[in-house]
Amino acid sequence: MRTLILSDIHGNWHALEACLRQARGDYDLLVCLGDLVGYGAFPNEVVDWCRRSGALCIRGNHDMAAVGLVPLESFHDLARLGTLWTIQQLTRDHAQFLRDLPPGPQHLESFVVVHGSPRDEGEYLLDAIDAEAAFDATMHRLTFFGHTHLQGGFASLAKTAAGILPVSPHQQERVFPLNGGSQYLINPGSVGQPRDEDPRAAFAIYDAEFRTVIFRRAEYDLAAAQAAILDAGLPPFFASRLARGI
Ligand code: ZN
Repeated sequence: MRTLILSDIHGNWHALEACLRQARGDYDLLVCLGDLVGYGAFPNEVVDWCRRSGALCIRGNHDMAAVGLVPLESFHDLARLGTLWTIQQLTRDHAQFLRDLPPGPQHLESFVVVHGSPRDEGEYLLDAIDAEAAFDATMHRLTFFGHTHLQGGFASLAKTAAGILPVSPHQQERVFPLNGGSQYLINPGSVGQPRDEDPRAAFAIYDAEFRTVIFRRAEYDLAAAQAAILDAGLPPFFASRLARGI
């Protein structure tokens, strides 16, 4: 069983399409770790795709903010502007779909999915200290998380004194083997707004049979995504940051 893991699409239709095109035929199941909307110019298109795709999708903090489940005051100024725009755009049906998304953690056959961390869907797992607390909060061997928009994650290796090690994908496609007995927190990266200084859309495929995570990147029509953001009257920084992967 191979699972396509997508996270943080953020209304970037062009990036989503490129990931799906590149991954076509390489997966049996589709999972989405939240933040379908926010920042990008295509919230309805992305939600509509998610509803039709049959993906198991959990909610992210931007999905919650777009339907009033978290206060806008928790966002910085630009993100708040983006969310207000998204609220105006979302159809009633799509808003209801976001409102009904389940929170993480959700347990699948061989792994768990969360948006932020196993203990708090809004927590950022940015370093080994964050990861250690997250590993302490879960018994599960393999958890996929998003929210930081950074492809990679953390490993807590069994039978070594190494402690928490970062999982760092290379620039090219990288097959990462999972050791039995060790614990992993794996981030597929962000489809729609990567922040690891690589502007290509990020995703991952988990192969349960071979116990590997394949980190992948997809080039997409960045100029079209940027033009749509500017045409929509969204903050220009949402467009410029895409080209820099920040
Ligand atoms: Zn996000």
